[in-house]
Amino acid sequence: MLTSLSIAQLEEITGGKAQGTRRDQLISQISIDSRQILHAEQTLFVALRGAKADGADFIPELIEEGIRVFLVHEDWKVNENWVDCATFIYTKDTRQALQHIAAFQRSNFSKPIVGITGSNGKTIIKEWLGQVLSQRFAVAKSPKSYNSQVGVPLSIFGIQPYHQVAILEAGVSKSGDMETLSQMILPDLGIFTNIGSAHEEGFSGLQQKIQEKLKLFSASKLLIYCKDHQHLTKEIESQISSEKLISWSKKPGADFSVSWKTLEGKTRIALMKSDLNTMTFQVPFMDQASLENVTHVIIAALTLGEDILAIQEGLNHLKPVDMRLTLKPGLNDSLLIDDTYNNDLAGLKVALEFMSQQRPKRSKILIISDLLQQGLPEKIYSEVGELIQSYGLDQIIGVGLEVKRLENLFPEKSKTYASTEQFLQNVDPESFQNDLLLITGARSFAFEKIVNRLQQRIHGTTLEINLNALTHNFNFYKKQIKPGTKLMVMVKAFAYGGGAAEIANHIQTMGADYLAVAFSDEGVALRKQGIRLPIMVLNPVEESFDLLREFDLEPVVFSPEFLKKLGLYARHHQIQLSIHLDLDTGMHRLGFEQKHLQDLKKLISEFPELNIASLYTHLVGADEEVHHDFSIQQLDQFMSMKSEVESILDYKPLIHALNSAGIIRYPDYQMDMVRLGIGLYGVEVTGKHDASLKPVSTLKTTISQVKELPAGATVGYSRKGILPFGGKIATLAIGYADGYDRRFSGGNGYVLIRGKKAPVIGNVCMDMVMVDVSDFSEVKAGDEAIIYGEQISLKELADQIGTIPYELLTNISTRVKRVYYLD
Ligand SMILES: *Cc1c(COP(=O)(O)O)cnc(C)c1O
Repeated sequence: MLTSLSIAQLEEITGGKAQGTRRDQLISQISIDSRQILHAEQTLFVALRGAKADGADFIPELIEEGIRVFLVHEDWKVNENWVDCATFIYTKDTRQALQHIAAFQRSNFSKPIVGITGSNGKTIIKEWLGQVLSQRFAVAKSPKSYNSQVGVPLSIFGIQPYHQVAILEAGVSKSGDMETLSQMILPDLGIFTNIGSAHEEGFSGLQQKIQEKLKLFSASKLLIYCKDHQHLTKEIESQISSEKLISWSKKPGADFSVSWKTLEGKTRIALMKSDLNTMTFQVPFMDQASLENVTHVIIAALTLGEDILAIQEGLNHLKPVDMRLTLKPGLNDSLLIDDTYNNDLAGLKVALEFMSQQRPKRSKILIISDLLQQGLPEKIYSEVGELIQSYGLDQIIGVGLEVKRLENLFPEKSKTYASTEQFLQNVDPESFQNDLLLITGARSFAFEKIVNRLQQRIHGTTLEINLNALTHNFNFYKKQIKPGTKLMVMVKAFAYGGGAAEIANHIQTMGADYLAVAFSDEGVALRKQGIRLPIMVLNPVEESFDLLREFDLEPVVFSPEFLKKLGLYARHHQIQLSIHLDLDTGMHRLGFEQKHLQDLKKLISEFPELNIASLYTHLVGADEEVHHDFSIQQLDQFMSMKSEVESILDYKPLIHALNSAGIIRYPDYQMDMVRLGIGLYGVEVTGKHDASLKPVSTLKTTISQVKELPAGATVGYSRKGILPFGGKIATLAIGYADGYDRRFSGGNGYVLIRGKKAPVIGNVCMDMVMVDVSDFSEVKAGDEAIIYGEQISLKELADQIGTIPYELLTNISTRVKRVYYLD
């Protein structure tokens, strides 16, 4: 942080009132996360209230750990015993108070601050600009994509007195958000990246979206933008006076006229200023998005006074980096967290936090390189040491000369190596078994080699799961339900194909209340992988009674016979079992019908060993308006049936009926719990809130070979694909055995290669499929092909072959590697 603060100053900045004894304490650290406390004595803990949890709940354990100053909501009740050892500052709204402290800290930084906003490219521009400027300057920047109402304050607290420039990104999701961010960041130089046309919930239209984002620059001295984005340019030029603007364009008429010439994997960027002065740079990219981003970077660096040679030197080292923190399957059941693009302490904290949220494994191992960050190494490395301790790591493997200095701070079994090569030569990949590894290093250490060595190799096809999107969708549904309503998440069928253990683990940390699986085995697998939430089993069988008991799974009971068998089993073993009752109101799949209720009630009274945890029904047509009357009839019948059962119980089971579509369509029937399925995975089946959910999974594969074929050639089995005039095809490493449906044969499906559609040609094979790339100028073996994801929606694909997104999702074979990431 830039300046330490006294309690009196904090009171003044936040408008709060302090109570307690420790009023002389000076604050130099601010934390909102109970696990990220470094210098407890000097830390102010800000108790934020979120959808998941109230930070104030952690205060007792934080006092235990030595924290002495807390910022809390004014309605929070302090325990009298604590007032003697700690100080509490009461404010109306702790989040706002946090923002005020950030604004105060920012006002103490007199060097330039660069603020970046726009729909795409913010994080990458921030990272690249940081790299280019760090050729000569000490640069502070937001960690990862910390660009929100809470992310921005945390980014600002990361600025240190020795920094010479700070780069902060700002992201908004609704009207009104930017005002607060703008007051905190007050950028001297702005970059407006671009604007996406997609409708976003929270904004009435494109113009409003641009106007909101523009507020970031209301006090900036200069703003860089690309004049080729028409809507954006129109708003910018009408709102901001021209002497503050720095425009660039691929056409004449801007402050910088830009041309891109690509040759052999590199692009030459020429910038011509209005005085005809021209500069050229080389960059290792070819795609439009990267070129646009890097052009912003070059112009920003020039504007900040970086010289041309230093800029080129910085550009030489840029890679189209994967900024994402990814979770990958490793050898021998290990899990790898891939953070091979990290160069600072703030990033390390984010990665450690992610690590702490993963499933328990044999040991937690950190593989870390030197942090190539300017500043005082002593201070930085002692903080690393403290972080390592506070996150309870079992082993550290250090790579680099600087980390060797840390050795005395490392736990016992730790080792260090001078270089990545040394690590690769001396470490046996098989020595890791069922471990959780965080692999984090600065770019120049090329830690991707380590990840490659330790990861499970399956084949070129991967299903990528965006955990941020999952969080977003979870929170979207959470917002639709009343605060007291519980949320059960359906993780049956391998969590709709997404991978049950990782998804269950993620929603467990997000605060789901219940899980449901189809079969007992699925529940057993979750328990073995450390999932602790209660688990309902939709379709248990008698043979699995022992498993249910051993692994604490709660079966659904749907017939009098089954109930009796389970009751006798419980009695025989003298145990109590929790069960759920499925009431059939029209699905006619499983469940008790009206005519079974007499028997049911009798059996319930007969077997007090069975505890009825819940009563539910399932709607058959909640996704479609045509079935509205039937849905209401089902719900009404359920209300009467459940009351009949309840009447003989002296306790209250949970009552639930709604699936994802039902949550949207029948908010009045949420009752005690809802059962979220497909919506969590990004598909809004009613079609009412398409723009509110984020696609969670991307299925991608690679091109194995490209072939030029003569006129009349046929492609694949049964000669179904015909090229009357010849052409070019690409063979992809995915087939129906991976879950790429055979119905996509013969042009019914297409994939995206380099952003362009390539239709399927011929029949889909078991492990491969061919696509027509005749009109692609550049395409080669190794290129990526996207089957579905952000640009190709599951609904669209499903429609094409007359099925539903559920089937596409759950068909992806287990041999396809699942990779999880935070973006
Ligand atoms: C699968 C399932 C759900 C979830 O349905 P979605 O349409 O995916 O939300 C809810 N309840 C039961 C009983 C289910 O079998």
